[in-house]
Amino acid sequence: MSAEIIDGKAIAAKVRAEVARDVEAFTQRTGRRPGLATILVGDDPASAIYVGGKQKASREVGIEAYDHRPPADATSEEVEALIDQLNADENVSGILCQLPVPDHLDGVHLTGLIDPRKDVDGLTPISAGLLALGRPGLRPCTPAGVMVLLQEAGVDLQGKRAVVIGRSNLFGKPMAQLLLGANATVTIAHSRTRDLPAVCREADVLVAAVGRDRMVKADWVKPGATVIDVGINRAEDGLHGDVDFAAVKEVAGAITPVPGGVGPMTIAMLLRNTLTAAELTAAESEVGAA
Ligand code: NAP
Repeated sequence: MSAEIIDGKAIAAKVRAEVARDVEAFTQRTGRRPGLATILVGDDPASAIYVGGKQKASREVGIEAYDHRPPADATSEEVEALIDQLNADENVSGILCQLPVPDHLDGVHLTGLIDPRKDVDGLTPISAGLLALGRPGLRPCTPAGVMVLLQEAGVDLQGKRAVVIGRSNLFGKPMAQLLLGANATVTIAHSRTRDLPAVCREADVLVAAVGRDRMVKADWVKPGATVIDVGINRAEDGLHGDVDFAAVKEVAGAITPVPGGVGPMTIAMLLRNTLTAAELTAAESEVGAA
């Protein structure tokens, strides 16, 4: 029997509609809109498309979008001053510094300067630390989106074996921690893992975030397992994931397609994080005013 296809596009649309409704309620209650400031240093065309998509999606749900584009030769001090200014700006609920930045800048250093309460990408050391400690905080968008997909697909993670292939700070590590927080038994695999297919076959939930076109084969997957494909690999015949979708869907119980699976969730979760950040700041000023 063929696997259930987890429709990320539809689930992302649902999240966006929920965020739009909640943004409206927030705006009614506080008299101001949540604001998302994006920083794009330089004019990399792919990054410009990503940032443009985030700006457009923000406006569609009623979030005010502020677009900052320092030139490619901006100094670190100039970008740092911009981040300081946005940290202090009450109209800005969330700040996102689009990576990668030009070579003469340090993206990790710059991201780390963002006020953790405005860290809508969830990538600052404080946000990463809060996640590691299991404390509330803003979570990285793509792994948070995977958790929503699993929930919407009705996957009960409690006590299940989860395997995450990939250990990046951007995705693999936070993904593993979110799964752990949901009481799964989690294995993180990477390029030095021995007998990766055997490790994957133990998974009730298999998450692939490697960046290798259709690496995960049908005989790596336990029959009935849920397979989440995070990979984005561009080939001449189009976009492919890290999972050999055509073959794996005949073995898995549920699977995300590429495109139309994890990808659409990232922006949806960025919007949700921006609203969460706005609510946090509003709650703080209400406490401050009391
Ligand atoms: P990354 O930083 O390059 O990390 C890749 C990970 O895969 C590393 O941990 C690496 O192991 C591991 N790896 C590489 N070759 C392997 C192999 N042969 N066997 C097992 N593990 C292997 O990439 P990333 O930022 O996490 O992204 C991963 C993929 O997800 C990319 O295709 C990216 O485009 C995609 N992505 C999609 C979204 C989205 O919105 N849909 C968001 C983020 C990322 P080592 O650590 O040992 O090198």
